[in-house]
Amino acid sequence: MWVDQSRKKGKEKGGKSANGHLEGLNWEVLVVNDHVVNAFCLPGGKIVVFTGLLEHFRTDEEIATIIGHEVAHAVARHAAEQITKNLWFTIGQLILYQFVMPDLVNTMSNLLLKLPFSRRMEIEADYIGLLLMASAGYDPRVAPKVFEKLGQVSGDSALRDYLSTHPSGKRRSKLLSEASVIYREAMEITFSMSRFQGHYAEGQI
Ligand SMILES: [Zn+2]
Repeated sequence: MWVDQSRKKGKEKGGKSANGHLEGLNWEVLVVNDHVVNAFCLPGGKIVVFTGLLEHFRTDEEIATIIGHEVAHAVARHAAEQITKNLWFTIGQLILYQFVMPDLVNTMSNLLLKLPFSRRMEIEADYIGLLLMASAGYDPRVAPKVFEKLGQVSGDSALRDYLSTHPSGKRRSKLLSEASVIYREAMEITFSMSRFQGHYAEGQI
């Protein structure tokens, strides 16, 4: 009630809420039947998951870790950030083209533009994803294991696509485990959820 009133007041004043970009999004998860071990998020709340990923990750918690990560990209507005960044990059590239060797510029642009999100964004999405999965009632302690597992199956050629755009599984797992503040926050969400909803059997967490 208070939240609604506060939101209404804010709107009357012409203010935009911090999560205004999420309003009106039509969330949808599209499952593509392909051995590729990958998942990604498109602007507008469309998440694409390949069945190759589901072959490796079968439990609800594991899948929640991946979906949480993809939703986090939308929450953090990474697509918009990337578009702005690319725009500046293109402008810079055009200027460079005139003065420097075109070959060098080509290699640079390939390296930067082919990565959908930067490594920093990926780590950020891991952290936000952790909070999201905890809010949805999934045990966040599963997340570091999921990323570690992703790294372990990296011998699999299908996984290389994923790893070329994401930091190594080992590094992500380590960073997540070490992000004690966020981790604690996620665990607290889980605890308070279990207290109010009885979602977890006693002694399970
Ligand atoms: Zn990602």
